[in-house]
Amino acid sequence: MTLTRSNQDLSFQVRNISSNSSSIKVPEMEIPQSNAPSVAASDAPVMFGGAESSSLRVLLGNVDEAPNNATMARFHDEIVNRRLGIACSLFRSLRAKHAPTADHCLRVAMRCSIFGTLLQLPESDLQNLEIAALLHDIGKIGVPDSILCKPGSLSEDETDIMNSQWEQALTILSAACFEDDVLQIIRCCQYSFDPPQRVSHPIREALPIGARILKIADAFDAMTTDHVYRRAMPLERAVAELFRFAGSQFDPELVREFANFSAQAEAEVNLRVSDRWLKGMSPEASNSLWQLKEPLFTRHGTGSPESVFQQKLLDAMQDGVVFVDSKLRILVWNRGAERLTGIAPGGVYEKVWDPAILKMRDKDGNLLKEKNCPVRSCIETSGQSLRRVIICPDGREHRPVDVHVIPVCDERGRCHGATMLIHDVSSEASLEERVQDLHEQATTDPLTGVANRAEFDRVHRSMVDNSLASGNFCSIVICDIDRFKSINDEYGHQAGDEALKSFASLLQRSCRQGDLVARYGGEEFVLLYPNCDNAGAVRRAEEIRRELSQTAQLALNGKCMTSSFGVTELQLGDTPETMLRRADRALYQAKDGGRNRVVQLGAGFLQEQYQESQSSWIRWMTTRRNKENSLERTLIANVPVPLLAEKIRGFISDHHAEIIQISEDQVSMHVQTRRASSILGQNDDSPDITLVVELSLREQVQRDDDERRTGSRTLIDVKIRPRRSRDKRVNDSRPHHVLASLRSYLIAQEYHGKT
Ligand code: GH3
Ligand code: MG
Ligand code: MG
Repeated sequence: MTLTRSNQDLSFQVRNISSNSSSIKVPEMEIPQSNAPSVAASDAPVMFGGAESSSLRVLLGNVDEAPNNATMARFHDEIVNRRLGIACSLFRSLRAKHAPTADHCLRVAMRCSIFGTLLQLPESDLQNLEIAALLHDIGKIGVPDSILCKPGSLSEDETDIMNSQWEQALTILSAACFEDDVLQIIRCCQYSFDPPQRVSHPIREALPIGARILKIADAFDAMTTDHVYRRAMPLERAVAELFRFAGSQFDPELVREFANFSAQAEAEVNLRVSDRWLKGMSPEASNSLWQLKEPLFTRHGTGSPESVFQQKLLDAMQDGVVFVDSKLRILVWNRGAERLTGIAPGGVYEKVWDPAILKMRDKDGNLLKEKNCPVRSCIETSGQSLRRVIICPDGREHRPVDVHVIPVCDERGRCHGATMLIHDVSSEASLEERVQDLHEQATTDPLTGVANRAEFDRVHRSMVDNSLASGNFCSIVICDIDRFKSINDEYGHQAGDEALKSFASLLQRSCRQGDLVARYGGEEFVLLYPNCDNAGAVRRAEEIRRELSQTAQLALNGKCMTSSFGVTELQLGDTPETMLRRADRALYQAKDGGRNRVVQLGAGFLQEQYQESQSSWIRWMTTRRNKENSLERTLIANVPVPLLAEKIRGFISDHHAEIIQISEDQVSMHVQTRRASSILGQNDDSPDITLVVELSLREQVQRDDDERRTGSRTLIDVKIRPRRSRDKRVNDSRPHHVLASLRSYLIAQEYHGKT
């Protein structure tokens, strides 16, 4: 079993287990349960962070109530500050690097603290254990994110890097005058309680009690929390695992005690630790643990312990870290920044930051000017930003990096500068480029570079859905080069290809943002115009037609070519298919009418019809429950029957309807419906339904007062019902959808008068 992912060297032997191990005195203490009154539940309020701070109990409320995240974060900050003193910057750096690890360290430290108290560890041992537990994973700041956040298991190399965290931790921590015992706890944590005899390692004599406790608490927390590479185990299973490895990896006596203690609720542990750390520890006492062993960092003459921690920490990081003050002077330039840029800290120290130092460019390759420099704007606005840029410092290859700029502000919100984290994304970026390439291949026509038919289908469907949902116009234009076969015949296939490319490029030049040009097949192209009505689409098609007919084609020895255009706007009741077929019908008419022309069909999106239909959907949705799924309506169109018959023909053609019966004034047909309008949010996968649509026409002659004929209009009785009785289910909007389409084709309104 792997308790931790790095599978740190658990196989080491410890031959001479410390006699301490058998002499641990586990006192008979009552372990408070989560619902029992807690030790900290005394009347005295627990104060932290000065007089104005709220008490833990106020912050956490009843332990049974889950406190919110912000409250917990404040609480955690307070207790970590108090416990570590000035060294809390180390902990914060770990949190900045990988928050889940920092949270883990804190939970482990709190459990160790209470468990150590129960075991009656001497105060100095307890303190060393708490600090070691809080910082036992500090070495992870030197482990690349790609390994820390990797969901799967680690390769051998990655495991080696992960295991190097122990050395990193010792390097960082040994720079300050820690108690050697703290270092010893962390050092020994790598080793098993009872490693095999054949393996030798430096910790032969004794595994300190602190290390034995920390190993158990560390493994327990790792097992009971979620990770990217493994889900949390239930508590009982985690305890069972501890028992399984008791005697080999863990001190068996301590495992037994820990098993009892493990049931203690986190809130209870929080309360008790806060009692100990906040009440019992002065900031001076915490700080006194931290002194320099040797002045490692004297560059700015400060040499303070804090700056040593920071320097060690910064230099262990893979990412570049740069700090500039409010006057944009560069004060920190860590090794990561040096590695990424090739610029040594001495070359930039105290210079004014300028994106030109790194020759920063945006993703389009434009050099970043001072005015759009993220560092400058961070200081001016105190807002953080994250953006991808390309850096190309002198003599270096272009390198894509993510630049995260964070303002450094005090409690009063005054900005003292900005920290810039530079994360190398070369490998991610090349992956993104490959994905982009694949996407392009899948969506683009290779000859002309415009979208292919699959991409057209996708964008068209989404444009139709959006327009039907929002009530906005959209139009489509189909164009087909005239007599292209004879162009091929006369000038050759190669010249034909060039002519196709030239036409595609004219279409693309004519586009606005949001439009789409696609090659539908052969010498046929389609244009999608969102937010454009019939009139606009016709105007634009006409412009293209004229320009093409006047453009000398190089490949055709300077001859011009022409194209025909079919235009239509989306109308109510349309599906992508009916819209496309209507445009195709228009194109056919353009060809039939002599070519080199634009023909438009369809009434377009009638706003009042849209509003009326919206409220009728709502009425239908709210009232038609448990009724049969068929409808009867009378419509009225202000045209005589022969004209109306023409429009019905359009409906039949675009819906691919099948005429079942036809007479002088009646027609009944089958209409296959694929899916309903997205207005009602019905599923794309709803099955096909065949509807029977019956229309009866009655022409009414209109006369003026002198009985002179002024015009005629036609009443249309519409009946729509599912063909099969099993489709007569409720809550299917398709009959309404077909009615809406019929109204659009016939330009008819609902008739509520006498019939
Ligand atoms: P119409 O005006 O009625 O559209 O006549 P047309 O000759 O353009 O129409 P038709 O559909 O009869 O012929 C289309 C021709 O387009 C036939 C086919 O060889 C040619 N074609 C289709 N795809 C390509 C291509 O990728 N390159 C070339 N050079 N020709 C193509
Ligand atoms: Mg054709
Ligand atoms: Mg053609």
